Amino acid sequence: MSEQIQPIRGMADVLPSDSAGWQLLETTLREIAHAYGYREMRVPVVERTELFRRSIGEVTDIVEKEMYTFDDRNGTSLTLRPEATAGIVRAGISNGLLHNQRQKVWFTGPMFRYERPQKGRYRQFHQFDVEALGYAGPDIDAEMILMTARLWRALGIEAVTLELNSLGTAESRAAYRDVLTTYFRDHEAALDTDSRTRLQRSPMRILDSKNPDMRELIAGAPVMMDYLDPESADHFAALRELLDDAGIGYRLNPQLVRGLDYYSRTVFEWVTDRLGAQGTVCAGGRYDGLVSQLGGRATPAIGWALGLERLLELYRACDGVEPDSAPDIFVVAVGAGTLRSAFQLAESLRDDAPALRVEFGCDGGSFKNQMKRADRSGAPLAVILGEEELANATVGLKPLRGQGEQQTVARDKLVNAVLALLPASDTR
Ligand code: ATP
Ligand code: MG
Repeated sequence: MSEQIQPIRGMADVLPSDSAGWQLLETTLREIAHAYGYREMRVPVVERTELFRRSIGEVTDIVEKEMYTFDDRNGTSLTLRPEATAGIVRAGISNGLLHNQRQKVWFTGPMFRYERPQKGRYRQFHQFDVEALGYAGPDIDAEMILMTARLWRALGIEAVTLELNSLGTAESRAAYRDVLTTYFRDHEAALDTDSRTRLQRSPMRILDSKNPDMRELIAGAPVMMDYLDPESADHFAALRELLDDAGIGYRLNPQLVRGLDYYSRTVFEWVTDRLGAQGTVCAGGRYDGLVSQLGGRATPAIGWALGLERLLELYRACDGVEPDSAPDIFVVAVGAGTLRSAFQLAESLRDDAPALRVEFGCDGGSFKNQMKRADRSGAPLAVILGEEELANATVGLKPLRGQGEQQTVARDKLVNAVLALLPASDTR
């Protein structure tokens, strides 16, 4: 035997036993995005490296140490997308979607970050992402948050809290940055190595530090909220009113600055205490400067992204039920001449009841063997075609989960008999 090829660290396989949970989350998210009138947009997995450098920011964890960057055969530096916003904005500009138009879009797919793999943190992970481009007012900020609140309700998740902050405009942030720099300079001895580096180029990033030793110092730092420009303060107040109207509770968190440079004004995160250290499930914010920073016309915008691995884990931690992905029916053919007829029978079941999941026992084998496979498939019903049934235009219908005896059914009554036996939830 040849040597096995190892999987890549931090990149997980989603196995058939887990995929129904994924599909449930993806469907729920998609339906919610559609309920708010958002449309799907798809962008490439790779982009020019420069796109991420210019949007996410040079002095960020992602750009400094987490990107999968390589030269293509032409020597162009490309990067596997670490997040979706940059690509969507790039696509909006490249395709002229932002000229006198607004866009409400959603996106889902894998993202890549070279992080230390641990629970809730992977090197390939999946995000569901929502972006609204061209909207300036606080109502879209509230809409973003309401969409996510609707998701928690749809999934029966209660263990999440909304954290909210405003980062003001670039100008008001510059004034705040000066005050913050002075504060951290005065406490330079207490800064860890990372933070000391950040003090030079991006002092607000220190607030985003995950080092517990820095917590006290950060808690005592001046807060952006006290330096907001009047328009940003009004915007934030109007957002809070809309959230109050909708009955959405939140916690103001002045340390919430987010790990990417492009945010302005509203930023938010949904956090939970059910997932241990990786407690942020969903995060987003406004990025009014990004489109022009990437060469487009100035366009206000806002978006959020949610980690699907963390969402699935949270759903499970909240006792969420994952749908059954087993077939409804397993078709068994036994005896001479039955295969062709059984094969057609399975196909006609799929024609007559397209929602049914019908597995054909390919590769045949003994009756005992096939029934074992039927059992293992998880299907609640086996449809059995033997020589006798073939001769009489009937089939055997056998419940596999203990409810009742095998019955003989006329072939043309099979669909009705099947639907009568399956629990309502199984008839999809
Ligand atoms: P964290 O602070 O946990 O590193 P982040 O601020 O880097 O998160 P974002 O860039 O805002 O994360 O991404 C949005 C969401 O994507 C996160 O809230 C999280 O649910 C998910 N996410 C981010 N990085 C990872 C990862 N390496 N593995 C799994 N999920 C991730
Ligand atoms: Mg991160």
